[in-house]
Amino acid sequence: MSLNFDLTEEHRMFWDAIASFVDKEITPLVDEAEKKEEFPVFLFKRLGELGYLCCRYPEEYGGAGADKISECLYTEELNRVCAGIASCLAAHATLATSPIFDFGTEQQKQEYLIPAVRGEKIGAFALTEPNAGSDAASILTKAVREGDEYIINGTKTFITNGTICDYVVVAAYTDPSQRAKGISLFIVDKDNPGFHVARKLEKSGLRSADTAELVFEDCRVPKSKLLGEKEGGFIQVVKTLAEGRISYGSRCIGMARGVFDLTKRYAEERIQFGQPLIQFQVNQFKIADWAMYIDIMHTITWKAAWMCDQGRDCTREASIVKLFCSETTQTLINQAIQLFGGYGFMMEYPIQRFWRDSRVLTITEGVSEVHRSIIYRSLRGK
Ligand SMILES: Cc1cc2nc3c(=O)[nH]c(=O)nc-3n(C[C@H](O)[C@H](O)[C@H](O)COP(=O)(O)OP(=O)(O)OC[C@H]3O[C@@H](n4cnc5c(N)ncnc54)[C@H](O)[C@@H]3O)c2cc1C
Repeated sequence: MSLNFDLTEEHRMFWDAIASFVDKEITPLVDEAEKKEEFPVFLFKRLGELGYLCCRYPEEYGGAGADKISECLYTEELNRVCAGIASCLAAHATLATSPIFDFGTEQQKQEYLIPAVRGEKIGAFALTEPNAGSDAASILTKAVREGDEYIINGTKTFITNGTICDYVVVAAYTDPSQRAKGISLFIVDKDNPGFHVARKLEKSGLRSADTAELVFEDCRVPKSKLLGEKEGGFIQVVKTLAEGRISYGSRCIGMARGVFDLTKRYAEERIQFGQPLIQFQVNQFKIADWAMYIDIMHTITWKAAWMCDQGRDCTREASIVKLFCSETTQTLINQAIQLFGGYGFMMEYPIQRFWRDSRVLTITEGVSEVHRSIIYRSLRGK
């Protein structure tokens, strides 16, 4: 038995196919989507038809039965061209569908997962509230049981796909006397009375992504909408977030690769002091460092994806991936802007978009401080 770090032939073929799809069909959409601050919604169906959208789910639910590593390759390619578009697709393919796949009843899978995999229903995942971000256990949203129904009240903010979703998986307390363990997940349809979009949020980055504030006001849902028809779903939240964090590593790698390509080309073409910028050894060293960091990010992300595919607990590894890849990519992009000089600051060069989009990497899906705490706690557990 020996260690094997190679991607399989199938992974390579999948990676080539998704890369050429992204170049041909997504790159041309980016400028308009960013300018109008509108996600090109038809992409859900297009990617669903091709089997890319939620590739990881088994064929019986319409997926391609791909592994977590394939999902990572798909995520990386999308982010190489546009992190805004990629973030809506990722919220759907991971956060809004994986709890249904992992914990939903068969009826919930038929009603939500299968159409979501096909791109016919768009999903959102709503945990964050105006006063509860990192401290998810402090959410105020409640779901009170009344006969065969639950009545949900609360406000959610920063929700990706909030205005374009057909359903939202929402976290609410069913038993506030139990901190965190009393939180349950519900699937709420967009047209369910009592649920509405309060406002679409304007952002400095990820402008093509849809982000909204959602309100639940005496929102009555049948008990069949309780995920898995079982109260006490905080473990569902924890698992959903952990798996999302591995793909998040690929999100960072995709952005780092996009910037690497743009900057290397620029440094080869830009002449100062009579020679291309790349001829200065200091700049060659920068490019070499970035190539090294991209390799390291691939290694740790794919290792965590592999662990996830083995069904192993990867909470600690997912935090290492999220923390290292987000902070490294931010540093890399900041250095790249420096190499672009004043042009890096101008809106006509795409590098500024990567810079704006990358700022949120250390904030969403767990701020860096939370991941450091998770890693530290894992040391004490050893
Ligand atoms: C573009 C975007 C999309 C999003 N999409 C979704 C979505 O689809 N669904 C959803 O539910 N949420 C979503 N979020 C919310 C996101 O998950 C939260 O922003 C994130 O969890 C951080 O919460 P917060 O913004 O309230 O920051 P806070 O929790 O208030 O943290 C602010 C700062 O306080 C410090 N801090 C916090 N905790 C600690 C600690 N334990 N130790 C030390 N310092 C600490 C850190 O410096 C941190 O950056 C999205 C956010 C954004 C910006």
